[in-house]
Amino acid sequence: MPLTGSSSPARSILPGSTLGILGGGQLGGMFAAAARRMGYRVEVISDVADCPAARLCDRLHVGRYDDPDFLAAAARGLDVVTFEFENVPATAAHALAAVVPVRPDPEVLFITQDRAREKSFLEKHGFACVPHRVVRSSAELTTACAQLGRPAVLKTAAFGYDGKGQRWLGEGDDPATAWHELGGNAPAGPREFVVESWLDFDCEISVVAARGLDGTTAAFAPTRNIHSRHILDVSSTPATLSAAVQAEAVSLTQRILKTLGVVGVACVEFFVTRDGRILVNEIAPRTHNSGHLTIEACETSQFEQQVRAVCGLPLGSTLQIAPAAMANLLGECWFDQTGGLQEPDWAAALSLPGVCLHLYGKSEPRQGRKMGHLTALGPTVIEAVERVTQARRLACRH
Ligand code: ADP
Ligand code: MG
Repeated sequence: MPLTGSSSPARSILPGSTLGILGGGQLGGMFAAAARRMGYRVEVISDVADCPAARLCDRLHVGRYDDPDFLAAAARGLDVVTFEFENVPATAAHALAAVVPVRPDPEVLFITQDRAREKSFLEKHGFACVPHRVVRSSAELTTACAQLGRPAVLKTAAFGYDGKGQRWLGEGDDPATAWHELGGNAPAGPREFVVESWLDFDCEISVVAARGLDGTTAAFAPTRNIHSRHILDVSSTPATLSAAVQAEAVSLTQRILKTLGVVGVACVEFFVTRDGRILVNEIAPRTHNSGHLTIEACETSQFEQQVRAVCGLPLGSTLQIAPAAMANLLGECWFDQTGGLQEPDWAAALSLPGVCLHLYGKSEPRQGRKMGHLTALGPTVIEAVERVTQARRLACRH
C-alpha cells in the first residue's frame, strides 16, 4: 500500500499505487513508461496479447472489451483506470467504473467516440465546427451533399481513426457509391455517418491539455500538423500562428475540457480557415500523436501529465524547452521499392543532431500502420522540421 503524503492534495493516488490503462497501443506503452518511472505499477487491459504496451507494463489482462466479467476482474486491485484508445464500447468503461474510478469519466468516452454525438455536443455548447449533417441512409446522404456542396467527406460516426472509415466526395462522385464503399448497405455495417464540407483550410493545429481533479487546466502549446492521406505525418511546435489564433485555440481547448468535465488528458484538433477562424475538427479523450514531441520538448510530457491528472496530483509545467518536430514512421518505411521487407537505416537517422527514435515494438509492418516516430529539437522550428524529415528520409531511403 502506498504511503499517504501529508503535503500531497487530498484524494491523490501516490506512487506505489496501481494504474490501469484500457487499450494496449503505443499511447498506453508511453503512459506505462512514464508511470513506472514515477514509481507506479501499471496494468494494461487489452483485447490482444501482442500489443505495444505489453512489454512496458507490470501486468497484462487480455480479454474481450464486451465481456463485463473480464473487465470487472481486471479492475480489481487497480487504484484508477484511464484509457489510451476511444474505440472501445462505452459499456467497457462503465463495467470498469463499477469497480474503480475511471478518468476521464465514461461519459466523456461515450460522447467523443462518436462523431455525431461529438458534433452535437460542440454545437450545443457553441463551439464552431465544420458544416456537416448526420445521415442514416444513402438518400439522406444525397440530400446532405446537395445542401453542403462539394467537395465533401463521408465519415462513419463510430470506430474511425487514422482516416479509416472515410470517403472523399468530389464534384462528380456518386454518394450512393461512397455509401456502399463504407458499408452503409451491409447488414452488420455502420448505421450512422457524418458528412462534412471538405475545407480548404489554411492549416491544421491541435492542443493537448490536461485537467486535474481540482479543475485546474494546463495546456501544451499548439502544434501545427501536416497530414498525408488522412494520417498524421509531421507535427511541429511552435506552430507559428498569430498570437490571437494561438490564444484562441488554447482557450477553446480549456473550455471544451471543462465543459466535458474531463479529468485527465485530452486533445482537440482544429482547422484554421484562410480567414482566420478556428473550427473544431475532433476531440480525443486521451494523449495524442501530435503530443509525442512533448517527451523531449517540454518540462512535463503529455504522458507524465496524464499520470498526474488521473492520480489527482498537481499538473506539471507545460513549458517548452526548445522548438521541436515529430515525424511518424509508418509501415511503408519498412518496404523497399519492390515490396520486399527491409529494416530502416536507424544509424543514419540517428547520425543527425537532436534526433530521437521511438519504436513501438510492433512486429508486423503494414501500410499506414504507425510503427514509431522520430522527434528532433532544433534552434528554430524550421530547422527541427528539416532535421526530423531528413532523418526519416535517411532511415527510409530504400
Ligand atoms: P481521424 O479520426 O482519422 O483522425 P479526422 O476527421 O481527424 O479523422 O480526419 C483525418 C484528417 O483528414 C484530418 O486531420 C484532415 O487532414 C482530413 N480531413 C478530415 N475532415 C476534413 C474536412 N472536413 N475538410 C478537410 N480535411 C479534412
Ligand atoms: Mg483526427
